[in-house]
Amino acid sequence: MSKKVIVITGASSGIGEATAKLLASQGNQLVLGARREARLQEITQAIENAGGEATYAVTDVTDLDSVKQLAKKAVDAYGRIDVWMNNAGLMPQSVLAEGKVTDWNRMIDVNEKGVLYGINAALGIMREQQSGHFINTSSIAGHIVGPGSAVYSATKQAVLAISEGLRQEEAQAGSNIRVTVVSPGAIATELTNSITDEEVKKGTEQFYDLFAISPERVAESIAFAINAPADASINEIIIRPSKQV
Ligand code: NDP
Repeated sequence: MSKKVIVITGASSGIGEATAKLLASQGNQLVLGARREARLQEITQAIENAGGEATYAVTDVTDLDSVKQLAKKAVDAYGRIDVWMNNAGLMPQSVLAEGKVTDWNRMIDVNEKGVLYGINAALGIMREQQSGHFINTSSIAGHIVGPGSAVYSATKQAVLAISEGLRQEEAQAGSNIRVTVVSPGAIATELTNSITDEEVKKGTEQFYDLFAISPERVAESIAFAINAPADASINEIIIRPSKQV
C-alpha cells in the first residue's frame, strides 16, 4: 500500500484520534485538525513516538479560512492531500420544544457547514491532482430519527446528501475522487459531553454504557475504505455495536 497524506478534522479525540493513530501506524502521513491544541500536540507526539509521521493545525471547522489553513498545512508539509476526513461533530440533542437555538446553530455550523467547508478547502487541490478521497462522518442518526434527535439527525442526513451529491459529481467529472460516508452507531467517545440537557445527557450515557464499542472499530472500517484499490469506491459504511438494535 502506498503512503497517503491524510487530513482529519475532529482529530483531537474519539473517532478522529483513533483513525489518525491507526492510519499513521500503516505508514501514512497525518495532518490533524481540531480546536484543542494540547490534545493535538499529545496525539502528534504519540504518533511520532510510535515511528509515524504527523503534524497538526489548530482548526475551527466553522471558520472557512481556518479550514483552508488546515489544507495549506497539509500541502506545505507533505505536498498533497490524498484523503480528507470531515469528522468534527457535536451532538447536543434535545426535544424541539426546549428551543435550544444555540445548540441547533452549533450542530448546523459544525456538523453540516463544517463538512462543506472541508470539501471547499480540499476539492480544488484533489481536482488538480486528479485523485483524492473524502471520508465524511455521518451517523446512524442520519438514517433513524428519534425524539430529541431531530436537529442532529438533520445535520447527519445532510452529510449523507452532500456526500452522495459529491460522489456523483466527481464520478461524472472523471476526477478519480472517491467519497465514503461512515455512519457509526454508539461509539464510546467524548461526544456525549456536548449534550447540554442534563436529562438527555444522563439517558444517552446510560444507553452508551450498555454496549458502545471503541472508536478503533470505526477506524478499522475507515482504513478498509481508504486501502481499497483506487478503482473501487466504498460509498457507505454503517457500523453498529453488535448489541445495538
Ligand atoms: P468526540 O467528542 O470525541 O470528537 C469530536 C471531535 O470534533 C473533537 O476532536 C472536537 O475537537 C471536534 N470538534 C468539535 N467542534 C469543532 C470545531 N468547531 N472545529 C473543529 N473541530 C471540532 O466525538 P466522536 O469521536 O464520537 O465524534 C466524531 C464524529 O463522529 C462526529 O461527527 C460525530 O457526530 C460522529 N458520530 C459519533 C458517534 C458516537 O457514538 N460517538 C456515532 C455516530 C457519529 P475540539 O473540541 O478539540 O475542537
